[in-house]
Amino acid sequence: MSQPLWGIDLGGTKIEGVILHAEEISKPIVRTRIDTEGFNGYAHIINQIAKLVQMMKEQSGLQPSKIGFGTPGVLDPILQTMKNCNSTALNGRPLKKDLEEKLGVPVVLANDANCFALAETRWGVVKEKCPHAQVVFGIIMGTGVGGGIVFNDHVWNGKHGIAGEWGHNFLDESGGPCYCGKTGCVERVISGPATELYYQKLTGEKISLKETSKRYKVGDAAADQTIERLCDFFGKAISVVVDILDPDVIVIGGGVGNIDALYTDGVEALRKYIFNNRVDVPVLKPILGDSAGVFGAAALVG
Ligand SMILES: [Zn+2]
Repeated sequence: MSQPLWGIDLGGTKIEGVILHAEEISKPIVRTRIDTEGFNGYAHIINQIAKLVQMMKEQSGLQPSKIGFGTPGVLDPILQTMKNCNSTALNGRPLKKDLEEKLGVPVVLANDANCFALAETRWGVVKEKCPHAQVVFGIIMGTGVGGGIVFNDHVWNGKHGIAGEWGHNFLDESGGPCYCGKTGCVERVISGPATELYYQKLTGEKISLKETSKRYKVGDAAADQTIERLCDFFGKAISVVVDILDPDVIVIGGGVGNIDALYTDGVEALRKYIFNNRVDVPVLKPILGDSAGVFGAAALVG
């Protein structure tokens, strides 16, 4: 058996750690978590991570030789500091260097969408349905919209560390201003909150996206309009990615990824917008659920 894989998913509220046998991920050696308590600042987050690693060592009786980390943003490949993190305490910080000093082992960082894509590639739905895929595009569609590219079983980071970040491409003026400083970003048009807001504007009623999708095609015209808009804009937004990257498979994670219509009407919209007369790329639902983030972090060092 190969060496156990150590992975940590650094989230806004929780930090989760796992030690896996690469051959048998269904039975982690250790899986544990601690509160991030990010409101106490950057130094405290580093201390919480060190505390979690200590717990993992004690519970397993093992020592890591390196650790993979899933992070909210990315490490800028040139500046070696974090950027694009919604946990803003991390932005501008040399997280890789600080973790290596604190933990005394090499660390590999990747953003959470990359970890999701890697986990589903290596152990999830891609392995099951498209085992020979060379290029995988993993999407996170939830509160935000992100993405990651796996190329030949490894995360493809890109020159700026932003490969796959389609969520801040321009999509439609109706999205309005985005926190990133631009207007009409994909995330502003088809994220969960954006879609919920659209329904609310139509009806005055505030309901979850899940509820909206339940009302789709059963007589609620506003729900029909909301889901049709979501699918059409999804197809338009993803067509840009497909035209450039032409991945072998697409996997949609995050809360919005649970909307069934994306896999039918959304794919039909993609067909309408791509530079091809049919869609052959499979668009799949993930199977690892909440485990994908932390498993993907472990996969970074395997
Ligand atoms: Zn934006």
